[in-house]
Amino acid sequence: MHAEPADQTSFDIADLVAALPEGGVVTDQTKMDSYRWDRANDPDAGLPLAVVRVGTTEDVQVAMRFAAEHGIPVVPRGAGTGLSGGASAVDGCLVISTERMRAIEVDPATRAVVVEPGVLNAEVKAAAAEYGLWYPPDPSSFEICSIGGNIATNAGGLCCVKYGVTTDYVLGLTVVLADGTAVELGGPRLKDVAGLSLVKLFVGSEGTLGVITRIVLRLIPAQRAASTLVASFPSLDDATQTVLDITRQMRPSMLELMDKASINAVEDVTKMGLDRTVEAMLIVQSDEADAAGAAEIAEITAIAELNRATDIFTTDDPDTGESFIVARRMVITAMETKGSLLLEDVGVPVPELGALVRGITAISENRDVVIALVAHAGDGNTHPLIVFDATNSDESARAQLAYGEIMELAIALGGTITGEHGVGRLKKRWLPDYLSPEALALNHTIKTALDPQGILNPGAVL
Ligand SMILES: Cc1cc2nc3c(=O)[nH]c(=O)nc-3n(C[C@H](O)[C@H](O)[C@H](O)COP(=O)(O)OP(=O)(O)OC[C@H]3O[C@@H](n4cnc5c(N)ncnc54)[C@H](O)[C@@H]3O)c2cc1C
Repeated sequence: MHAEPADQTSFDIADLVAALPEGGVVTDQTKMDSYRWDRANDPDAGLPLAVVRVGTTEDVQVAMRFAAEHGIPVVPRGAGTGLSGGASAVDGCLVISTERMRAIEVDPATRAVVVEPGVLNAEVKAAAAEYGLWYPPDPSSFEICSIGGNIATNAGGLCCVKYGVTTDYVLGLTVVLADGTAVELGGPRLKDVAGLSLVKLFVGSEGTLGVITRIVLRLIPAQRAASTLVASFPSLDDATQTVLDITRQMRPSMLELMDKASINAVEDVTKMGLDRTVEAMLIVQSDEADAAGAAEIAEITAIAELNRATDIFTTDDPDTGESFIVARRMVITAMETKGSLLLEDVGVPVPELGALVRGITAISENRDVVIALVAHAGDGNTHPLIVFDATNSDESARAQLAYGEIMELAIALGGTITGEHGVGRLKKRWLPDYLSPEALALNHTIKTALDPQGILNPGAVL
């Protein structure tokens, strides 16, 4: 359900330009180009009518009221690092860019931080660190993605296996609704059950229910220095069994997997000496204190050995540990040098991780396309990266088939089509396969109640 393109003869964009601070509205087609795509590079991205670079909640209200009055589609946009086409433009839309909304204020007394949506995740972490506090959610893109985008996608990351995902840290939001009303939800309170859980409703809503303009986040005490274990395996099965055996017994603060193709792509870039011959590598961290941390690493070592690990390296040196995490974080960018990518984000219950990985290998062989694998393995959340030559129509078609088959496989294993990147535009086709008809109908009911004209992020998710 979404709005028809607005009749552009029925309004004058100059009225919006005049209603907003100088320089707030961009209509130059060349300048708007960088606002058309996110990192999914959706080939169907449209041409915006204007990019509105908002500075305040009131600016967003002005833009939304103008859009509502004239039936203009609106695409909210953070930093454009999304991987599902959720922020790709549609024809004749207003892109509402939050890049100028950068205020940030830490309150150490309540252990909360109030941020505007354009602040980068890394900037939230840095501001919290000044007070000995920590904002845990850490997508691999944390240095380049906005906190508003994180809230809108309910972003995950590497430490989420122990510390939870974005929603676990959102205490309050200000949201501008489709008719321009600004509503304040929640606040710096650790417990609050008055009314429906509306904060949770907007977390992960991918710009389809409102524009988030102010966020209250929970902070926790700084993380202890972590010990790192890197284990190499002769097969993916050995690595996934290790993941299962670890998560049955303990909660490491990181449990990531890279397959051979990912290791090689990263090694091509970094030349850091990763073993190119192994089939899989696990990067595990424990941030338990002193003896407890040492005991946890010893236990993980024993589990990895039982599962035929060929090499196990451990270190307490934070810089050495960080070098492996940097390697892990750069898998997507390293794979981008190999060709065009279709990025998956399927997740399964952890006991099904082995079956998922085996199934993905079979799809790769059947469709004759390279599928590299990197995973937040401890969460059962994998990122199969389908590599293809976009100039080769046959290979592109096979890559598209593999893309759908991986989601179908995940659903068959009791999993989800997206663990953290969102449905966006690229996965919308598969949402009805995942949700029950009743759940899908409820999604539509909520969307229609909040956005009866269907102007918010049309074509995304629903
Ligand atoms: C190299 C790389 C690694 C990545 N690793 C991870 C990872 O480990 N975990 C993970 O979860 N993601 C990861 N991502 C994906 C991406 O960074 C996240 O989805 C991130 O949360 C998007 O933030 P953004 O500011 O770029 O949002 P955008 O891409 O601009 O937007 C994403 C969605 O949020 C909506 N939106 C943005 N701002 C607002 C707002 N203020 N109000 C309402 N809706 C809004 C948009 O409409 C869109 O639907 C990675 C991306 C890259 C490129």
